[in-house]
Amino acid sequence: MNKNGVIIFFVVGIIIISCSTRSYTTANKNYKKQAKAYGKILAQYPLKDSVVNAPYWVGTANFNMRKPNFVILHHTAQNSCDETLKTFTTVKSQVSAHYVICKDGTVHHMLNDYLRAWQAGISKWGNATDINSISIGIEIDNNGFEPFTEPQITSLLGLLDRLKKAYNIPAANFIGHSDIAPGRKVDPNKYFPWQKLSENGFGYWYDTATVVVPENFDAMQALRIIGYDIKKPESAVQSFKLHFVQQDSTKTINDDDKKILVDLIKKYQ
Ligand SMILES: [Zn+2]
Repeated sequence: MNKNGVIIFFVVGIIIISCSTRSYTTANKNYKKQAKAYGKILAQYPLKDSVVNAPYWVGTANFNMRKPNFVILHHTAQNSCDETLKTFTTVKSQVSAHYVICKDGTVHHMLNDYLRAWQAGISKWGNATDINSISIGIEIDNNGFEPFTEPQITSLLGLLDRLKKAYNIPAANFIGHSDIAPGRKVDPNKYFPWQKLSENGFGYWYDTATVVVPENFDAMQALRIIGYDIKKPESAVQSFKLHFVQQDSTKTINDDDKKILVDLIKKYQ
């Protein structure tokens, strides 16, 4: 490359860098603006419904913020981290997450943990139906059909460790999008290392070595006890397999699955 070539290369490089910086600067400004607006709402009194149902205001300063109690794990089903960051900063998409983990292990924090990301959608776990209000969403860059990278899992485990400690999140409450939206979502995909996560204190795994399946064992009730929405039985089984029997893509419960369920309900109930 000659001198002019070097200069052109340099200038184009600057333009590319400043373009991407500028786009996130706008997103960051929008974030601040919106957070400020919610701050105003929090400080507001009287609230509209208070006038009718609770007209007497006595303020107390004995409060803090509500904490997330679940972590929902996703794969992005997109082709790059940049694509996902763009999607999550585009108003039109109406989707977001608290964290995005790139293939090289880089972690992007997109939203204060105390705020409600739009990641779970229509979902149910146990009797909880507004999962967005009680959870943190973590998106892992993955097209849906490939294994997750080592750096991604290393970063994820570090992040989960911090979240678990900061918000006192029970081990049982680290779950996948497919767990809370059977038949609608299939992420994270079958390569997600749930067993490794459980070994680190995030979610539970099973040991069926000494398990005896009781007579009349009801597999669907076991799935319900774990947390699955069993309204569509086949979908509930599919989500269970994606998490706990990843090599099996059938939607039926066999004798080995029953053993797994017998052991799991002891941990999840
Ligand atoms: Zn998802």
